[in-house]
Amino acid sequence: MRKVSNAIQDVKNAILSLVPPEAEVTRIDFEGPKIAVYSRRPHVFLANREELIKKLVKTIKKRVVVRGDPEARLKEREAEEKIRDIVPEEANITLIYFNETTGEVEIEAEKPGYVIGRDGVTLRRILAETLWYPKVLRKPPIASRTIYEVRELFRSRSDERLRFLRVVGHRIYRRQLIANEYVRIIALGGFQEVGRSAILIETPESRVLLDAGVKPSLGREEYPYFDLPELDPDTLDAIVITHAHLDHCGSLPYLFKYGFKVPVYMTEPTLYLMKLLQEDYLKIAERDGRQLPYSHRDVAEAVLHSYTLKYGEVTDIAPDIRLTLYRSGHILGAALAHIHIGQGLVNIVYTSDFKFARTGILDPANYQFPRVEVLIMETTYGGHQDYLPGRGEAERILIEIVRKTFERGGIVLIPVLAVGRAQDVLLVLNEAMERGLLPSAPIYIEGMIDEVTAIHTAFPEYLTPSLRERIYRGENPFTSPNINILRQAGEERGEIVRIRPSIIMSTSGMLTGGPVMDYLKLLAEDEKSSLVFVSYQIEGTLGRKILQGLRRLAFVDARGKVEMRELKMEVHRVEGFSGHSDRRQLEFYLRKITPKPKRIILVHGERSKIKSFKRQAERISGAEVLTPQNLEAIRVV
Ligand code: ZN
Repeated sequence: MRKVSNAIQDVKNAILSLVPPEAEVTRIDFEGPKIAVYSRRPHVFLANREELIKKLVKTIKKRVVVRGDPEARLKEREAEEKIRDIVPEEANITLIYFNETTGEVEIEAEKPGYVIGRDGVTLRRILAETLWYPKVLRKPPIASRTIYEVRELFRSRSDERLRFLRVVGHRIYRRQLIANEYVRIIALGGFQEVGRSAILIETPESRVLLDAGVKPSLGREEYPYFDLPELDPDTLDAIVITHAHLDHCGSLPYLFKYGFKVPVYMTEPTLYLMKLLQEDYLKIAERDGRQLPYSHRDVAEAVLHSYTLKYGEVTDIAPDIRLTLYRSGHILGAALAHIHIGQGLVNIVYTSDFKFARTGILDPANYQFPRVEVLIMETTYGGHQDYLPGRGEAERILIEIVRKTFERGGIVLIPVLAVGRAQDVLLVLNEAMERGLLPSAPIYIEGMIDEVTAIHTAFPEYLTPSLRERIYRGENPFTSPNINILRQAGEERGEIVRIRPSIIMSTSGMLTGGPVMDYLKLLAEDEKSSLVFVSYQIEGTLGRKILQGLRRLAFVDARGKVEMRELKMEVHRVEGFSGHSDRRQLEFYLRKITPKPKRIILVHGERSKIKSFKRQAERISGAEVLTPQNLEAIRVV
């Protein structure tokens, strides 16, 4: 990384002049975009509702975190004893996790209120007596292996991570050397196509990459145009990952393989889901005997360089660039990225994939911003025929298909992406059985969906209020006696397709690999069964080809042997469950977004749909609407 300046010095002087000596500050340093103040008496900062921290933030205009001095912190075992001593028994502490990098201690409990205490009195006592900064979490109904693995990774490499975060801070707050005389948006992937999303934002001083996806297909995946000279490991400041789908994050580890050691910003659920999906992608490629584009080690590197943000947190990510993530309504943790450049020079909103309506599990996308001049917007369902049935209608259609298939004694096979529709559709089908709209029958789920569900229950604050409440009550809304989770069914799949009627939900969602392929092979020639697509099928995938009429299917096993099957199942498409906005919702978003953008750039859509939506977007917004191709650059300042 270039240009590491001594930017911390000015900040240090400002902080030391404000902090009273009794706080015993021992060190001030960067921790990524935040300023960490290390102290022997950190609880002093929390007095009077954190008045001192507020004063510091106001003066230095940067986010400040207080850390107990690492030398003075209690040893982990002593600290744990002390915490169990201080916190009343009723809290039912289930886990205490010490984060060496940040000096925080995560305390997971069944009743978090008891850990906090009245007005936070218990928390302050923990900090004063252990010097570990307490973070309180509610115990989720199911434990997630992925969350545990990420924590272990951070723990085992905490020195390295802390050093990296310090370098990142120095780089973010380096003195800006070049005036902002231009801002360019460079199309690296996902323009006039769906898949391999990647957008580079460039100013004379800084460069930020938005998303790093792959384009899934039956053979080899396509990657974004990463070999452009503008994308350079020495000059890239940051990468932003909007959500965990592989067409937005599948090539991130590939960048780490080739030396891009830069900070990656995303929400916390996205971090866990991303790791899970990238590793699953490697596992499937391995099983199918394909060449691996990167290794598990590269996935770990990407995780280790990640820095998570909450929705609405304004964060400096380069000397002249600020990032804020907002809810996008697409999948758990998915975000719209608001990019503020210069002192109000230009504001860009990148919607990535977004849903401007409530789904069964998420609230709709945010549409109010402090400022926005340029809107980069997805158009997956921008075609003139893409006015999809509403949510209620989609549920009714799906239930009807299932009912008819059950009456014939068939099986309903639903290919699902592990994240998003699977949880949504599961809730709908299960509820239909509970309300007697469908006869009770087993629902089999295979392919990471249980782990993804565990991650959902760990982040209730990201879900709709009603789901959140159920999880707070300790319920797991994603389980019921009907639901059978299969971990790597393998040989059993032959048995499962004999149990009738039933519903099988399995990955991958576009029939590009994964256990769903085994089920499809077993069921293909069964006229009584149904194949139901509930999510978007990217061009070139088997799912798309079947929707276009393909009925002779070739199945290739790991040894390369090919077997043909005639597809005799009923094929259905139920689109109202999509996590994308349909044409009506895209139009509505342009009407609602405030303030009004002057320029709109359409991305993430097939050529014909983008063309069709361009005219409509111009009519509705009165803005200049642009539809660049990959490799084009647009100057917005
Ligand atoms: Zn997506």
